[in-house]
Amino acid sequence: MSSEAYQPPTGGASYGSGATGNATAVEGPSMRYICSDCANKFSIKKNDPIRCTECGGRVLYKERTKRMVQFEAR
Ligand SMILES: [Zn+2]
Repeated sequence: MSSEAYQPPTGGASYGSGATGNATAVEGPSMRYICSDCANKFSIKKNDPIRCTECGGRVLYKERTKRMVQFEAR
């Protein structure tokens, strides 16, 4: 009967000593491939079978990625 929504006053936001769960959600690195048969460009994740998504061919080329890789400089 008593429908009371009691909200505790958030006075002191205490940082530190916190168990942060998901700081970085690391996805599987997906490689990009090009089918040698139908020239289909697609990306394959780590657990996916290496096969063309269009024709099912298994002869694939790796697409050159011009992405710079950042390293953490210490
Ligand atoms: Zn193909």
